[in-house]
Amino acid sequence: MADVRYLDWPFFEDRHRSLARNLDAWATQNISDDHGDVDAQCKLLVRSLGQGGWLRHAVGGSAYGGAAEQIDTRAICLIRETLARHSGLADFAFAMQGLGSGAISLDGTAAQKERYLPRVAHGEAISAFALSEPEAGSDVAAMACAARIDGDHAVLDGEKTWISNGGIADFYVVFARSGEAPGSRGISAFIVDADTAGLEIAERIDVIAPHPLARLRFTNCRVSLSQRIGAAGEGFKVAMRTLDVFRTSVAAASLGFARRALDEALQRATTRKMFNGVLADFQLTQAKLATMATTIDSAALLTYRAAWQRDQGRNVTREAAMAKLAATEGAQQVIDAAVQIWGGMGVQSDQPVERLYREIRALRIYEGASEVQQLIIARELLKDVRAPSSNKG
Ligand SMILES: Cc1cc2nc3c(=O)[nH]c(=O)nc-3n(C[C@H](O)[C@H](O)[C@H](O)COP(=O)(O)OP(=O)(O)OC[C@H]3O[C@@H](n4cnc5c(N)ncnc54)[C@H](O)[C@@H]3O)c2cc1C
Repeated sequence: MADVRYLDWPFFEDRHRSLARNLDAWATQNISDDHGDVDAQCKLLVRSLGQGGWLRHAVGGSAYGGAAEQIDTRAICLIRETLARHSGLADFAFAMQGLGSGAISLDGTAAQKERYLPRVAHGEAISAFALSEPEAGSDVAAMACAARIDGDHAVLDGEKTWISNGGIADFYVVFARSGEAPGSRGISAFIVDADTAGLEIAERIDVIAPHPLARLRFTNCRVSLSQRIGAAGEGFKVAMRTLDVFRTSVAAASLGFARRALDEALQRATTRKMFNGVLADFQLTQAKLATMATTIDSAALLTYRAAWQRDQGRNVTREAAMAKLAATEGAQQVIDAAVQIWGGMGVQSDQPVERLYREIRALRIYEGASEVQQLIIARELLKDVRAPSSNKG
């Protein structure tokens, strides 16, 4: 097992510590680095994570297969960090089960929870979160995909793109413009089963770190209003509440990638012979290693502060944004340093550090690009200055 001294931090309870240790042991036994067909790999990982009991942490409500009544942020962060250290695709498989079903856990009806969550928790159904559109990424409120009400159905028309699990998901939580009010107040969320008439996979998208991704097209796609999550026009809030839970876990996944990169760098630096010694003998290398470790621990402190604070029921808008910004940007630097230490082998296809170099890149873009996190942090800071008494604590 890698260096897990951070598990002694006061942010955790003993159940978190044993969760992380047990998962690490399980992952060592059950997750291989074999990257063949990503669709098949991903389906296998979801099933295996379900059978291992880990996906229970991705859903809320013990009556619906969840490990707890509410999603425990520290648990999902530790799971993502641990899985990311073993395999980017395993982390992805876990994360998407949570993100894809998160809106149902948080705001779904009892019938929706009953129908979807147990299957998600057992790895029997794959979920996806469909918010982004070709013309609405960072600017979510520019969304154009329409949901027209027709009797007791909503009729969806439009496109969603960059949808993780697109093509292999059993259902999609889709956000569409239902028009109750302009901008973000006129959006509703719907659960759309993958086999619903009028939903098609318009395009599969390849990315630098392969995982299932697609553009979806909705054409006269009729969805019963019983599949709507939350009230009409409340979809934006539903999406933001879901992202609020999972944003900190993106930071945690970055930590997992960064810790693996540091492990790989240490291993190489202490064994690569040169100039009558090994690479780690040189102070320039030691400076790199020290910076890597310090970057990781500072990002980890921010990440687990945010996770702990959320589990106390407190607002984490600023803290989650700081965690995501510091952890994703820091991990990119740590991994780059690891590639440098590995030299030519660092850029050789499918070497662990080369894979990490590709894995980390998208995390600085999705679930709010770094610039969006900076804006959130600045907004919160300015809010404090402008209304000092009302925003503390
Ligand atoms: C691998 C991957 C998986 C994804 N999975 C999903 C998914 O499952 N579901 C889903 O709905 N979406 C998903 N997305 C989409 C993702 O959420 C968007 O890519 C992201 O929101 C950015 O939108 P965009 O790509 O349209 O970039 P744009 O909105 O065009 O932004 C481009 C760049 O502009 C900069 N920027 C943004 N805002 C500002 C600003 N205010 N000031 C200055 N600069 C700014 C940032 O650097 C940003 O990267 C995924 C994306 C990727 C890459």
